[in-house]
Amino acid sequence: MTIVNVLNVIPPKMIGNVIDSIRLDQLSAPQLTKTVAFLFALGIFLYILNFIWVYSLFGNSFLLEKMLRSRLFGHLTRMAPSFFHRNRTGDLMALATNDVPAISQTAGYGVLTLVSTVSGTTVVLITMVTLIDYKLMLAALLPLPFLAFAISVLGKQMRKRFLAAQAAFGKMNDHALESISGMRVLRSYVQETKDMEAFGGVTQDVMDKNRRVAFVGALFQPVVQTIVGISYAIGIGYGSYLVFHSELTLGQLVSFNIYLGMLIWPMISFGEFINVLQRGSASADRVDAALRQQTDVPEPREPVNVEEPLVIEFDRLTFRYPGASADSLCDISVRLNRGETLGVVGRTGSGKSTLLKQLLRQYPIPENRLRISGVPIENISQERVKSWIGYVPQEHLLLSKSIRDNIMFGFPEAGDNRLHQAIEAACFTGDIEQMKEGLDTVIGEYGVMLSGGQKQRVGIARAIVTDPEILLLDDALSAVDARTESRILQNIRSERSGKTTIIATHRLSAVSHAHRIIVLEEGRIAEQGTHEQLMELGGWYRRQYDIQQMESNLMNELEKG
Ligand code: ATP
Ligand code: MG
Repeated sequence: MTIVNVLNVIPPKMIGNVIDSIRLDQLSAPQLTKTVAFLFALGIFLYILNFIWVYSLFGNSFLLEKMLRSRLFGHLTRMAPSFFHRNRTGDLMALATNDVPAISQTAGYGVLTLVSTVSGTTVVLITMVTLIDYKLMLAALLPLPFLAFAISVLGKQMRKRFLAAQAAFGKMNDHALESISGMRVLRSYVQETKDMEAFGGVTQDVMDKNRRVAFVGALFQPVVQTIVGISYAIGIGYGSYLVFHSELTLGQLVSFNIYLGMLIWPMISFGEFINVLQRGSASADRVDAALRQQTDVPEPREPVNVEEPLVIEFDRLTFRYPGASADSLCDISVRLNRGETLGVVGRTGSGKSTLLKQLLRQYPIPENRLRISGVPIENISQERVKSWIGYVPQEHLLLSKSIRDNIMFGFPEAGDNRLHQAIEAACFTGDIEQMKEGLDTVIGEYGVMLSGGQKQRVGIARAIVTDPEILLLDDALSAVDARTESRILQNIRSERSGKTTIIATHRLSAVSHAHRIIVLEEGRIAEQGTHEQLMELGGWYRRQYDIQQMESNLMNELEKG
C-alpha cells in the first residue's frame, strides 16, 4: 500500500510538467508519447499492486476471525457451569456472531485506513514541500487540527454507543433463544402475543441503539468533507495569488491541487479508521472479558497419577453452590469400595444430584474432602476422573444426531457388538425395532422425537457403552415403568460386577440390592446402612418403602382385575 501511495504522486507531477511545457511551447511529440506510455504502464503496475495488498489484507482478516472464534469456543468448552450462570447463552453467541466480525473488520478495513492515512498523507506532504511550495502547503492544511479534534470527539461517542448496541443485541439473542427453545411451553400457556410484544420491545431497543451508532457514523464523512473543502478553497485562492506573483508556475498550481485532492481520501480514511477502531476495540473488550474469566475448577498444578479408582471416599464433605445462601451438602461421610453399589435416596431437593455432581468436578469443593484411591480429587487431572465416569443426568441431554451417534457419543470407536450389548442392557432393543430407520433415526433437537422414557434409556445406553469404572445414575429411570426399571437394573448389575455404581432415585426398590444406602435430608445423611438395616431402623426409609410397596401391589391388582 505504501509503495502504491509513493507511485501515486508521480502522475500529477508529470501532468504539471506537461502543462508548463505547453505554456512555454516546448512540448515535443516524442516527449508526450513517452509520458503517455509511462502513465499507461504505471496504471497497470498499480492495478497489480493494489490487487495484492487488498487480497492479502482482507483474506487474513478472515483468518483472524476464524482464530478468534476457535479460541472463544475452546474457552467455552473448558468452563464450569458457574461460568454459564454468569454469562447468558445469547450474549456468548453475540460475541461469536457480532463482536468477532467487528474485530476482524478492524483488522481489515481498519488497517487499510490506518496505512492509507499515515503513508498517504506523509508521501503527499513531502511531495508538496519538495516539489511545489511549503507556504502553500501550510496554508492549505491550516484546518487540519479541527479535523483531528472533531474526529476524536465523534470517536468517543461512537465507542460508547457501539458498546450499548452490542449489549442490546446480546439481550435480543437471549430472548430469541429462550423463546424458540421454549416455544412449546409458550404455546401451551398461550403466551405468544405477550412474548411477541416483549420481543418487539427488545428489537426496538436494538434498532434505537444501532440508529444512534449510525447517527454518529454518518457525522464522520460530512465533517471530513467540510474541512477538506476549506482546504481546497485556501489552496486555489492562495495558490493563484502565488502564481500571480510568479512564485509558482501554473503547472505547479495544477499539480498542487491534484495533490490536495489526493489528501481527501487519507483524511476521510482517518475518520473511518477512528470509527472502525472504536467499534473493534469495544468488541475486543467484550470478547476479552469473556476470555479472561477463568474456570473456578482449575486443573491441579502437579496432578497425582491414579491408575484406578479403588476407593471413593467422602470425608465430612460440606458443599454450597456458588452464590447460594445455604449448604446443599453437609458433613457427608461415605466410603465406597470398587465394585460396590451405593444407593442415594431422600426427598426432592435433599441433595442427591448435588452429591453425584461432586464426582464430575463441576464446582470447587473444599480441599481433601473427597478422595479417590486416597488422593484428593482436586489433585487428579479432570480428564482422568472423567474418563472413569459414565453419567446419566437427571435431565437427559441428547443431541440432534442419530440414535447411534448419541449412544456412541463418548466412545465413537465402540464396535457394533458393544453397541448392541448396551442397547440390550438398557432395554431399548424393542423400541429401535419399531423405528423405520432403526439406529439411524435422527431424534431432533434435544431428542424431541423420543418419549421421556426412551430418552432416559438412550442416556443409559450412552453411559454403559463405555463400560465405565464408575456409573452415576441420577434418577435415570423415573420415566420408565417399574417392570422395565427392574429389568434394566438387573442387567446393569450383571454387566457391572467389579465396577462401582452410584444410583440416586425416588423409587426405593431400585436400590434395595445396593451394598450401602444413604438417606439424605436437607443435605445431611439422616440414615444409612443396607436395605435390611434400614428396614430394621424403621425411619423415613422404612415408611417410604412400605408406601411404595403398597402402591405397587395395588397397581398389580388393578392390572390383573
Ligand atoms: P430431586 O429429587 O428433585 O432431583 P435432589 O435431591 O437431586 O432433588 P439437588 O438437585 O441436589 O436435589 O438440590 C439440592 C439443593 O441444592 C436444593 O435445595 C436446590 O435448590 C439447591 N441447588 C441445586 N442446584 C443448584 C444450583 N445450581 N445453584 C444453587 N442451588 C442449587
Ligand atoms: Mg436430583
